[in-house]
Amino acid sequence: MANNEDQFKKVVSHAKEYGYIFGSSEIYDGLSAVYDYAQNGVELKNNIRDYWWRSMVHMHQNIVGIDAAILMHPTTWKASGHVDAFNDPLIDNKDSKKRYRADTLVEDYAEKLNIKAQKEIAKAKKRFGEAFDEEQFVTTNPRVVGYLTKKKDVLERLARSLDNEDLADVKSLIEELEIADPETGSRNWTDVRQFNLMFGTQLGASAESATKLYLRPETAQGIFVNFLNVQKTGRMKIPFGIAQTGKAFRNEIVARQFIFRMREFEQMEMQFFVRPGEEMKWYDYWKETRLNWHLSLGLGAENYRFHDHEKLAHYANAAADIEFNFPFGFKELEGIHSRTDFDLKAHEKYSGKKLQFFDPELNESYVPYVVETSIGLDRMFLAVLSHSLQEETLDDGSTRVVLKLPSVLAPVKAAVLPLVKKDGLQEIAQKIVDELAWDYNVSYDEKDAVGRRYRRQDAAGTPFCITVDHQTKEDNTVTIRDRDSMLQERIPISEIAGKIKELVSVRNWLS
Ligand code: ATP
Repeated sequence: MANNEDQFKKVVSHAKEYGYIFGSSEIYDGLSAVYDYAQNGVELKNNIRDYWWRSMVHMHQNIVGIDAAILMHPTTWKASGHVDAFNDPLIDNKDSKKRYRADTLVEDYAEKLNIKAQKEIAKAKKRFGEAFDEEQFVTTNPRVVGYLTKKKDVLERLARSLDNEDLADVKSLIEELEIADPETGSRNWTDVRQFNLMFGTQLGASAESATKLYLRPETAQGIFVNFLNVQKTGRMKIPFGIAQTGKAFRNEIVARQFIFRMREFEQMEMQFFVRPGEEMKWYDYWKETRLNWHLSLGLGAENYRFHDHEKLAHYANAAADIEFNFPFGFKELEGIHSRTDFDLKAHEKYSGKKLQFFDPELNESYVPYVVETSIGLDRMFLAVLSHSLQEETLDDGSTRVVLKLPSVLAPVKAAVLPLVKKDGLQEIAQKIVDELAWDYNVSYDEKDAVGRRYRRQDAAGTPFCITVDHQTKEDNTVTIRDRDSMLQERIPISEIAGKIKELVSVRNWLS
């Protein structure tokens, strides 16, 4: 599936056709990198958010949630460093007039070197079979060593120049590597410039008295400014966490990858407050815990990898991404950052208020250190959707499109179908729908032949189809069909709810 442009196009059109995602304000030709979640999309999104919330907040007795406002006092963003440093280096191609992130151009170049190395390794593995010693090969084969060394050098130089704000060197690097505009092949580049990603807006009616505000570019700061409120009212003891989900806004330079990079998106973040000096222990803990959360959904362990950061943000002393194998390759899905005491200290300084914890065991007060887990809800949505969309060839040679969503996340858990529109089957089906609707989002479908209805539900991602037929009238049984195996089983109506529960319960998936 990797690097498959066709697959990606299919995901985008399937998302529209089956009511998952529409472009924003489409009747006016849309707004770039802004999207609306449609009738199925909103259910899937809510289910992903709920799966996260329950595992992070409800399953951890020392983590609580909040819901802070999108608009915050403007000094927040001065303290957090966003006003001065929330920039991306941008570069324009003079011929194509296309705009790119300079760091991304270089990173993509480095990834190509990595792919070349991996290809060599795969080839050798095939050639040597059982006797293959991968570690030895990677460290001695001149071609592989060449690719990987160059990759490392390139990324290190990029990190160094960005750290030193040496944008001229970033441009030199692009020129030396002969990186061309990915769309047109032109190498006629402008200089590299910094661009602040925050959206500004105004509070107040008249232009003179208005205060300049920002739409929050991350949800984390709403947690930091409430640290003491939550600690005191919740009587929290370190270590403890505060979680929040909500909208964030970034004026992204390049936004061409559907919901992977949006200008308005949603984050699910958790800030974990720990004793200074214990942050590395918790950083490792959260890396592992978060990866396990992803693995619980069954999208395949091979589709995840960690990427440890070479260049650390101004607030971090360690950082890693969990990357997912999207149709356009491995890209960041979630970040785990050890943010030190940077944020709380900065807010102490700018607000003049103490943001400390009195630790009864140590008998001292300190500004806690923070380990953050931050995942984009929309990116998670894309990971789930793109992985789940599959085309299968069946035994009889026909093909079917099926959206193999983890059933715990599926928008509609079951569709209830009367085999025919007569003989009282509709009424029985409707009664089953009304009963299941107390606990699950279910749908009723009576249009077209039953085979076509099955296909439609497969493509929409519905894990179960419950069919009411003439036998139902005799013995109160129905067939329940599994989306993935397409196997049908006959069960009493009274057992439907239990069956669905077993297969979609968060408990069974998470544990
Ligand atoms: P990137 O390097 O891809 O721009 P980032 O490192 O700036 O991401 P963070 O600031 O760490 O991202 O944000 C945490 C998470 O929020 C990311 O892992 C990602 O899932 C999500 N995210 C960030 N920016 C966007 C965006 N523009 N659209 C959708 N999701 C985003």
